[in-house]
Amino acid sequence: MSKSFEQWQAAAATLAFPHQALIDGKQVAAASGKTFDCISPIDGRVLAKVAECGEEDIHRAVQSARRSFDKGDWSASKPSARKKVLLKLAALLEQHAEELALLESLDMGKPVGDALKVDVSASVRCFNWTAEAIDKIYDEIAPTGPDELGLITREPLGVIGAIVPWNFPLLMASWKLAPALAMGNSVVLKPSEKSPLTALRLAELALQAGLPPGVLNVVPGFGKEAGEPLALHMDVDGLVFTGSTAVGKYLLQCAGRSNMKRTYLECGGKSPNIVFADAPSLEIAARGAASGIFYNQGEVCTAASRLYVDRRIKDEFVAKVVEFGREMQPAHPFTPRAPMGALVDEGQTQRVLSYIEQGKASGARLALGGARVSPVEGGCYVEPTIFDEVKQDAVIAQEEIFGPVLSVIGFDDEVEALRLANDTPFGLAAGVWTRDINRAHRMARSLRAGSVWVNYWDGGDMTAPFGGYKQSGNGRDKSLHAFDKYTELKATWINL
Ligand code: NAD
Repeated sequence: MSKSFEQWQAAAATLAFPHQALIDGKQVAAASGKTFDCISPIDGRVLAKVAECGEEDIHRAVQSARRSFDKGDWSASKPSARKKVLLKLAALLEQHAEELALLESLDMGKPVGDALKVDVSASVRCFNWTAEAIDKIYDEIAPTGPDELGLITREPLGVIGAIVPWNFPLLMASWKLAPALAMGNSVVLKPSEKSPLTALRLAELALQAGLPPGVLNVVPGFGKEAGEPLALHMDVDGLVFTGSTAVGKYLLQCAGRSNMKRTYLECGGKSPNIVFADAPSLEIAARGAASGIFYNQGEVCTAASRLYVDRRIKDEFVAKVVEFGREMQPAHPFTPRAPMGALVDEGQTQRVLSYIEQGKASGARLALGGARVSPVEGGCYVEPTIFDEVKQDAVIAQEEIFGPVLSVIGFDDEVEALRLANDTPFGLAAGVWTRDINRAHRMARSLRAGSVWVNYWDGGDMTAPFGGYKQSGNGRDKSLHAFDKYTELKATWINL
């Protein structure tokens, strides 16, 4: 049964906040002794003073990861042994689900109910699915003549640096850690400075599950001071990143300037959601359009931030989206079924508000919202906001806002819809609503995006890869394809 507001508050009052780095299996302060404030955007309260790692800590963590890798307790263990530990970790995450959901909600402001139902349960599924997969992957034998044998084997890369964002802190860490660890790598994880708590807790649980010390190190800290030394480190073999396109591009340069480490990026988006007049249900499509942009306060890489609607139904359709959007007002994240919580911090709130001002100045029609609100004093809350009659080249239609702001644009036919949808440097996701199966397939083929959803938004599971075209990234998380990022392929030829 779901908890009441008061029950969540009571649970939050007894919560312990992890605040130290985890290096070589030990909880440690930063070498400099520095800490940074972990502030809850719910009400501006300081939750914890977290170790602020810098270059020296990163170096210690990489050395520890390297030692553990070379020692082989994990890297040379049988897949069935690694599977056992990762299944145990999944079970521990499940056991601590409410605690993790609370930490996530307090740390980054999302509704605690969503954190429990989506973030934590998807992380549990990620570890379970990956653990179940690893003892079912076979190496290959190359087709050869009778006098030779060609073996194609997968080997772990070695030391992986993982840098993750703040919008789904536990889940983004899980998408990196599960396949990296499953393949036998050792990892140094840098969570976002805006939401470090659940990654630190995850690492404690991983030790408890039996992961050998040094195989997973977590170094909280800022991008320049902690992320960059990791990206430039000569003894990191692979870097996996989820975050903004700007930082992703910079990390590619870091790889070039250092040891050409394998660098895989999952970056930003500006996803088009295309509604044709023959959508199976305008009601369902409108609800999908509203939740596609307002879920998680719009802080979703696949947020349906550009809505393209057939001009013949646009006014009627936008009215419905406005109606559903109006129901999604932000509330204290402990409120049962809160549709939106707080934005991650004051900086992000100001960023979103400045885009809203640019939207107003662009001549677009403000159809809903457009202001900061205060369901909780001292918190970071912005209304669900919808701009209609947005110009395709307007800043709000081109740049990733990462907040609850929707841009609506009309189209006359399929050709125009496709042209407008693909007119973006991003290519993460796209949605199409139509009853015409031929059109659905034509659109899905031609949309330059890593995920296409037909007649719903945000489908997905561990069974399918997730990632971006164009400047939305160059790798894939989830599914067996994710293992490619964490392994080298070796060809061994034997003369018979
Ligand atoms: P960000 O790029 O600002 O930060 C991401 C991480 O990179 C953080 O840990 C940060 O500390 C670190 N970082 C920042 N500067 C760095 C530097 N110079 N060197 C090394 N590390 C550095 O992104 P964010 O604001 O945390 O997250 C929002 C972005 O993440 C959005 O663009 C969103 O679309 C994207 N995102 C993408 C996906 C996906 O799967 N494609 C999923 C979630 C979020």
